[in-house]
Amino acid sequence: MSGHRDVRAVARSVHQWLDWEQEDNVLGYEQDSSGTVETDNSTNGLSPTQQERPTLDALQTELGDCTRCKLCEAGRSTIVFGEGNPNARILFAGEGPGFHEDKQGRPFVGKAGELLDRMITAMGFERQDVYICNVVKCRPPDNRDPEPDEVSACRPFLQAQVRAVQPDVIVALGRFAAQALLETNTPIGRLRGQFHDYLGIPLMPTFHPAYLLRSPEKKRPAWDDLQLVMGKLGTQKAGE
Ligand code: URA
Repeated sequence: MSGHRDVRAVARSVHQWLDWEQEDNVLGYEQDSSGTVETDNSTNGLSPTQQERPTLDALQTELGDCTRCKLCEAGRSTIVFGEGNPNARILFAGEGPGFHEDKQGRPFVGKAGELLDRMITAMGFERQDVYICNVVKCRPPDNRDPEPDEVSACRPFLQAQVRAVQPDVIVALGRFAAQALLETNTPIGRLRGQFHDYLGIPLMPTFHPAYLLRSPEKKRPAWDDLQLVMGKLGTQKAGE
């Protein structure tokens, strides 16, 4: 890489970082949204959660007014299934809905969601380009961590969402999501910064946006994680 290219790559990274920090301005990144994916709709009599590539609509129908775990009666007002581009290249997975998400039925719409939106924009995407969901679809009472039986009850739906979207990369937001997806107790500080495998898809754990709001000094390493994701997607090529 020439010295000039080196400087340009660093300048671009700093520019993207500042955009995220300053909440202004979307970078002029154009994503190819033309590519529709051929889907095999044959079900072989399998339920959507069992199919190789179910549709998100079929999964949501199967989920229904779910009573598979105790979260249905523990204070949930709305199931937060997930939303976004059904053919997204990136799937963000959080822990579970909070107060605002439960009210609106949409993932990441509170303060943490606003920061996630800025992170997505800094990566050169719009929120509607990506897919966003959670490990559990119902709000745990008092924002406690979801319990193992709740995670287990929701797991077939999360896995099927991943198979439905078939993203190129998954970003696990925060300790809980990363540990639940990877089925490990390893601390987030040791999981982040490198890709792991989830159903054959590279998964990058990073800090949760709510944690970043409390610990802004962690935004820099989180941005490093997101740059690795962009590198994996080929949306940021070294030396350009
Ligand atoms: N935190 C999460 O993990 N998920 C949401 O949807 C909102 C906040």
